[in-house]
Amino acid sequence: MSGVVNLLEFDLDGLAAFCEQLGEKRFRATQLFRWIHQKGASDFAQMSDLAKSLRDKLAGAAEVRPLAVASEQASSDGTIKWLFDVGGGNAVETVFIPEDDRGTLCVSSQAGCAVGCRFCSTGHQGFSRNLSTGEIVAQLWFAEHHLRRRLNLPDGERAITNVVMMGMGEPLQNYAALLPALRVMLDDHGYGLSRRRVTVSTSGVVPMIDRLRDDCPVALAVSLHAPNDPLRDDLVPLNRKYGIAELLAACNRYLDRAPRDFITFEYCMLDGVNDAPEQARELIALVRHKVPCKFNLIPFNPFPESGLKRSPRERVMAFARVLQDAGVITTVRKTRGDDIDAACGQLAGEVQDRTRVKARIATRSPIRIHRQGDAQDKQDNAGTRQETNA
Ligand code: SAH
Ligand code: SF4
Repeated sequence: MSGVVNLLEFDLDGLAAFCEQLGEKRFRATQLFRWIHQKGASDFAQMSDLAKSLRDKLAGAAEVRPLAVASEQASSDGTIKWLFDVGGGNAVETVFIPEDDRGTLCVSSQAGCAVGCRFCSTGHQGFSRNLSTGEIVAQLWFAEHHLRRRLNLPDGERAITNVVMMGMGEPLQNYAALLPALRVMLDDHGYGLSRRRVTVSTSGVVPMIDRLRDDCPVALAVSLHAPNDPLRDDLVPLNRKYGIAELLAACNRYLDRAPRDFITFEYCMLDGVNDAPEQARELIALVRHKVPCKFNLIPFNPFPESGLKRSPRERVMAFARVLQDAGVITTVRKTRGDDIDAACGQLAGEVQDRTRVKARIATRSPIRIHRQGDAQDKQDNAGTRQETNA
């Protein structure tokens, strides 16, 4: 395969540069780009409006290289999860989540993740490598065109209207590959997705939030998970490098150019760790009148090695109410695809850990459970236990 260029690696400018090397004009690159991304073509012979001479040149020099599908699972709620083999013993996951008015694809950016969050099964697997632009784009290319056929969509109708970079990996630690991939998603000659419908989710890589604002502002989700630095240091180790104050300042800078006028804060609800009403009040003090935002509370999806438990439903609702009563818009995420382990943080793929991340996580001391709280908090806990026993 070496020497043969994978055309999925290029945004339109990149493809134009490649075509120029072959002695072709930019409009040829646009035609080619449309064949690949809008029509899902990979066979140059099929691309009928390209000059025969160009098709012959491409046949020897380039290809549209798909990822190998290792498995596919469909959930009873319509969610579909693919496991793609990316070689070297690594596999990454991509999830399609259909809703009435949209189709969302959850895309992976790395094989594993080096951040090592306590509550994340990708994090517990360690880190192998960054995906290339072509491997990120191939997830969308495959899913979009596969689903159009499978769902029998009329010509021109899209299966995927939204992309969230919430699969395996920390997208802002793979910025060089992410940026062209985002451009392919947004390009009118590519997938033509609106900036508001492409979301980068990050655990808080502050300098790269600034870069994204300058290069390609899309919707931003920030995985907050804790209302103060000591707890966030423990849950999201990257916080030791970029603390909460610095992160929130970067969020505000981002909003100057963002396609949406708020940041989405994701907050994974962990029983007895970050789910007390007092902690909701701490969050309010942190963000109200300071960062235009919405909170998305995610029920924790447990996995054995984490040693953590999902907050009971009524505790999540009580937490949401405290935020809402203070005027902070808060939603509780519906869990989708959990019968096929496709829900948030259950994406494990297969990772040949090449770092010390996995070992480091394994030796960490268990998290302190915060149950001292106020009287109201104690009552909540009592209620919780009853619920659990019921
Ligand atoms: N690395 C990026 C994007 C991938 S994780 C980030 O951390 O934002 C996508 C989302 O899933 C994040 O908000 C993450 O905190 C959440 N998540 C991770 N593990 C989870 C779990 N076990 N249960 C619920 N949500 C989880
Ligand atoms: Fe990485 Fe995100 Fe998982 Fe943290 S939550 S380990 S940043 S993928």
